[in-house]
Amino acid sequence: MSITPLMPVYPRCGVRPVRGEHCHLIDEDGTRYLDFASGIAVNLLGHSHEGLIGAIQEQAATLMHVSNLYGSPQGESLAQRLVDLTFADTVFFTNSGAEAVECAIKTARAYHQHVGNDDKFELITFKNAFHGRTMATISASNQEKMHKGFMPLLAGFKYAEFDDLESAKALMGPNTAGFLVEPIQGEGGIRPASDAFMQGLRALCDEHDLMLVLDEVQCGVARTGKMYAYEHYGIEPDIMATAKGIGGGFPMGACLATEKAARGMGLGTHGSTYGGNPLAMAAGEAVLDAVGNEEFLAEVTEKGERLRGRLEQFIGNYPELFEGVRGKGLMLGLKMKSESRPFYVHLRDGHQLLTVAAGDNTLRILPPLVAGDAEFDEFFDKLSAGAASYVVPEAA
Ligand SMILES: *Cc1c(COP(=O)(O)O)cnc(C)c1O
Repeated sequence: MSITPLMPVYPRCGVRPVRGEHCHLIDEDGTRYLDFASGIAVNLLGHSHEGLIGAIQEQAATLMHVSNLYGSPQGESLAQRLVDLTFADTVFFTNSGAEAVECAIKTARAYHQHVGNDDKFELITFKNAFHGRTMATISASNQEKMHKGFMPLLAGFKYAEFDDLESAKALMGPNTAGFLVEPIQGEGGIRPASDAFMQGLRALCDEHDLMLVLDEVQCGVARTGKMYAYEHYGIEPDIMATAKGIGGGFPMGACLATEKAARGMGLGTHGSTYGGNPLAMAAGEAVLDAVGNEEFLAEVTEKGERLRGRLEQFIGNYPELFEGVRGKGLMLGLKMKSESRPFYVHLRDGHQLLTVAAGDNTLRILPPLVAGDAEFDEFFDKLSAGAASYVVPEAA
């Protein structure tokens, strides 16, 4: 037997965390890492937030799980809060981001099929997008490395150039149901869409009665200084997937929709055993208690500007390594002149600094939203030492 008990689908590294303290992870052998990856935009309150821990502990001791066959005061309460905070009229709770996107895809199709437009099943998505690892969500992405070995893909997706309205328009036809897009591509390399692009998609949807479906699994939940990134663009979606940060580390997600968009999602059309259980709802409430207010969002914006300013100053010292800084709020990317992965490994193993590599030679910087000046100072100490000692590997 040579396969590992843990299915070997991840290139797991030598960092083996066993404990978290605020913005740090402590590994099996006691090494402390500064965590500016946040479980990939998940741990927005850091690792030992009292409010989140207390809420989960209390709910676990009270009622952990019941079936969705019963009434859910916990689900009603969190759904109402999300409705109050966003464009949405209704919410379906999931356990992950991919499931939230799945529900969004189903909702978009069901909208058209509910009114008898059975031909309108196709979503136009965008190159280098990441929407998850289920069959529908890999089919929604053009990335061949995610398709290999899993053919055939689910029908009903076409891939346009990201941030290119003309490319999206050119793919529209009688089967088009809408657009599925990340307002800021995460895995693709922290690439924010332009205002003109997002507003243009909205206008096309209005004109042709199509669904604007946003995947805010990574950029949502206060990460960019807004509760959701669409607010930066002065538009609203019809349907939106959210997850990652929304549970602060507890696995949960949600699909949000307007009343109009959700018209096909009636009794018996969708479901989930765990989705929206009381334990998850308690985590979601604790996260919203912390981040769902103007003061916290303004702080994220202000911290984001500070971190970005310092990054821009920093990269001026290493023009041969870095090309620029991009992103919004505390969802930042350092665009490099060479592959980002080896630099990420160098920072991790040589300087105990955790970031995340992404597409387009970009290093993702995703600190917990509760990080402050002390953590930013430590970050720049490690990043400077890392850049000074970095040798760009020879291209293979
Ligand atoms: C992470 C991510 C997903 C998938 O979320 P999972 O919880 O891993 O299923 C989907 N869309 C985007 C934009 C993501 O970043």
